[in-house]
Amino acid sequence: MQYHSLNNNAPKVTFSEAVIKGLAPDKGLYFPEKITPLPTSFFENIENLDNVEIAYQAIQQFIGTEIPEEELRDILKDVLNFDFPVVEIENNIATLELFHGPTMAFKDVGARFMARCLGYFNKNNENHVTVLVATSGDTGGAVANGFLGVKGVDVVILYPTGKVSDIQEKQLTTLGQNITALEVDGVFDDCQDMVKTAFLDTSITDHKQLTSANSINVARWLPQLFYFLFAYKQVKHLKKDIIFSVPSGNFGNICAGIVASKLGLPVKQFIASTNVNDTVVRYLETSTYDPKPSKATISNAMDVGNPSNFIRIQNLFNNNFSALKNNFSAYSFTDDQTKEAMKKIYNKNGYITDPHGAVGYLGLKKQDLKNNDYGIFLETAHPVKFLDIVQETLETVVEIPSQIEKIMHKEKHSISIKSYENLKEFLLK
Ligand SMILES: *Cc1c(COP(=O)(O)O)cnc(C)c1O
Repeated sequence: MQYHSLNNNAPKVTFSEAVIKGLAPDKGLYFPEKITPLPTSFFENIENLDNVEIAYQAIQQFIGTEIPEEELRDILKDVLNFDFPVVEIENNIATLELFHGPTMAFKDVGARFMARCLGYFNKNNENHVTVLVATSGDTGGAVANGFLGVKGVDVVILYPTGKVSDIQEKQLTTLGQNITALEVDGVFDDCQDMVKTAFLDTSITDHKQLTSANSINVARWLPQLFYFLFAYKQVKHLKKDIIFSVPSGNFGNICAGIVASKLGLPVKQFIASTNVNDTVVRYLETSTYDPKPSKATISNAMDVGNPSNFIRIQNLFNNNFSALKNNFSAYSFTDDQTKEAMKKIYNKNGYITDPHGAVGYLGLKKQDLKNNDYGIFLETAHPVKFLDIVQETLETVVEIPSQIEKIMHKEKHSISIKSYENLKEFLLK
């Protein structure tokens, strides 16, 4: 499989090159040359396949021959060693729980898959790769955990100071070994801009092989399409029309869902549910793409003013605005609405959502669901990751799972930086 840059001004590359480079030299995102639908028998039999088999069949074409079948299956077995349950919370509305991995947010699958691919490609290579990643909250922890101890890979995580939750901060600042956390005086977009600048700065890249572990990296982004297949496997017997509502920030997860539908997965509608960072919502209303600086919210992993993956979504709809509008809706919600939804779901159904999942729920409520529709919102993080806001809103106590309890008492290690120059100094020292 070849990947081309969406800026159309860089050579085509293989999967391994796309993973190692992260971003194309013309600043474009890599995109698969071709997406071939899976045979209909795959969907007819999906309930008889285990998750590793589903994942293998779905991802194989994107990797081609670069990772041999047995190795790839081993990677997937390792990455997918936890559950992805669909839990019905009211009539015709369910949540797909994606928080059963080691850092309790959905990014574990992409981060672990990418780490293992990079480890495989790098195993006979003497040169180190530096993974440089900006996080609005959960990416950092998932990447730190996924890459911990991977040989030949150093990880540098940039996060906005004071804008991630305590647990998120602990997850990315307490591991040590090959993981370093840089605490940036700014917002998430500043972190993301610094990372993008570093990739294009030859005074760094002449000395160091940098790559990204944000969803701009194809190995982080593509495996997220598994979730939508795993959900389908569980609800197929209902014979309903599926509508997915995906709490969206950088739009990588929902974009992977659209790739799953290109593979043949029957999905009636995709809803991008956002907080007040509503660039895509405004785009669908006005057809003008006008990114704004990100605003801080209680669903901080979605505080993104200029979502990197939206260009991939436009591409999946052949850059056709009306085709996009027919299959894709987007709604934005305030923090107050989010808290109201968390309370309502808790009081009515006894289910605790985190703020991101609650935004996803609101997206389904805004869409006018028909009789035969089945709405699934993705619960992208365990409520414990947003402990203060969840406990305060619901006036209840959330039990702390053991994998979180363990890191709460560990000591934070981070390096404060103020500017791009500071980042450069750090990388070149
Ligand atoms: C990253 C994240 C999101 C947003 O995902 P994108 O792929 O960036 O749209 C939503 N919820 C949680 C909890 C996250 O960590």
